[in-house]
Amino acid sequence: MTTNKPRPCTLGKRHSWQYQQDVKITRVNGRSAQISLRGLYQCECGAKKYGGPSP
Ligand SMILES: [Zn+2]
Repeated sequence: MTTNKPRPCTLGKRHSWQYQQDVKITRVNGRSAQISLRGLYQCECGAKKYGGPSP
């Protein structure tokens, strides 16, 4: 596993995450695949993260 360290926001002290869309993330566990829905969030500085599904 690689660790994703979020870069500090260039526009403020913290990123102001804005919800973009839901994305499907497929995890393969051996023979079975698990599909989970995650929300994609983006800050104005361009940083992105995946969070929980849309509120
Ligand atoms: Zn930011």
